[in-house]
Amino acid sequence: SHFLSLSVQAKMSRPVQARRLEGIDKNIWVEFVKLAATYSTVNLGQGFPDFPPPDFLKEAFVGALSGENHMLHQYTRAFGHPPLVKILAQFFGKLLGRDLDPMTDVMVTVGAYQALFCCFQAFVDEGDEVIIIEPFFDCYEPMVKMAGGTPVFVPLRPKAPKDGKLMSSADWQLDPTELASKFNKRTKAIVLNSPNNPLGKVFSRGELELIADLCVKHDILCISDEVYEWLVYDGKEHVRIASLQGMWDRTVIIGSAGKTFSATGWKVGWTVGPNRLLRHLRTMHQNSVYHCATAAQEAVAQGFQREFELYGKPDSYFVQLSKELQQKRDWLVQSLDAVGMKPIVPEGTYFLVADISEFKSDVPDVPDSDEPYDSRFAKWMVKNKGLAAIPLSAFYCGPHKKNYNHFIRFCFAKEEATLKAANDILQKWKQDKTSP
Ligand code: PMP
Repeated sequence: SHFLSLSVQAKMSRPVQARRLEGIDKNIWVEFVKLAATYSTVNLGQGFPDFPPPDFLKEAFVGALSGENHMLHQYTRAFGHPPLVKILAQFFGKLLGRDLDPMTDVMVTVGAYQALFCCFQAFVDEGDEVIIIEPFFDCYEPMVKMAGGTPVFVPLRPKAPKDGKLMSSADWQLDPTELASKFNKRTKAIVLNSPNNPLGKVFSRGELELIADLCVKHDILCISDEVYEWLVYDGKEHVRIASLQGMWDRTVIIGSAGKTFSATGWKVGWTVGPNRLLRHLRTMHQNSVYHCATAAQEAVAQGFQREFELYGKPDSYFVQLSKELQQKRDWLVQSLDAVGMKPIVPEGTYFLVADISEFKSDVPDVPDSDEPYDSRFAKWMVKNKGLAAIPLSAFYCGPHKKNYNHFIRFCFAKEEATLKAANDILQKWKQDKTSP
């Protein structure tokens, strides 16, 4: 009985979690993915396609699994499967107009997400500031904090479009003076995400030059999240900030096979940059993940090989995907515009942000609620209409959430039938609203 009482008393009472986890326990995706799974009939929430990846990519994976080379079931090189880093070096070398060493200037990661984590851990110290442009892919903030850094936010500010015109993601711009005011002695890095999730903004060359000049002037790093690099519309150009004057030496480019080849579940990502930066990412990688899935890397390598040969040609998947997605964007823009949920037309990505102001009467605000209105709206919409979307406030830091709380983000990387079903829900909703 002595033992028994001891074991009863042996419950831990002190806090178990490390201090670095303080204040970063909430995650929008955990909450909204669960809501979508429970209630949605049409899920335009989280960013992934509901159509299959291209056949050539699936066949490459199947081939890797069932082919002669059984070593594809074993560990491969820790910093990237050789065929994949080689073709990535070739491909990005061509895009950037410089010779890349596949062994030192490229590193493969478990999706872009791990690449981001490696960057913040490798470059950000206690007391360092990291500039983040709002709205931003939400993980940047907790990742900076976990590294001991301080995120410093600067917003894209919307300008009203000309009368009668729909707003474009290009109407959301940085104020140059405000941006410059965020750079100081403590600034270590800026995170750039172009094309931007959630707005779909594709930063223009001029906008990137402004950022680049500040990076050079203050000698800071640029973590360039370019996972949507192939998803640009209306003939817009994706400019790589690493190609601008003085930027190669201080930029890490981050990419994702998940977004590039419509296979988010494979979780293959990469970093491209100079060895002086990437060697520190390798230190992080070898002390955390170390190896990424070999067969998936083999398949992605073959996918890139194909795209390298077809670069810019009509048969290129990158060319075809952006064409198809532009069509899907236009459908969703039309659906939303027709019911008065004003879309902000994205120049890139597979996301679209829409203004819910005209639907406020259906979901009354609760004064003094801690929860931003758009979050309550999105929850109401999935529960009552079966349509899942993500509140824009999720892409702002805490104190700024309330300023941007009447927008929701839709993902349009969906089959035609899915987009049609969304359109039906919106049409019926509009009719119910107007008929007495
Ligand atoms: N960056 C951005 C801007 C994203 O939207 C995403 C995925 N939603 C990621 C990074 C993560 O990509 P991956 O799935 O390759 O980890």
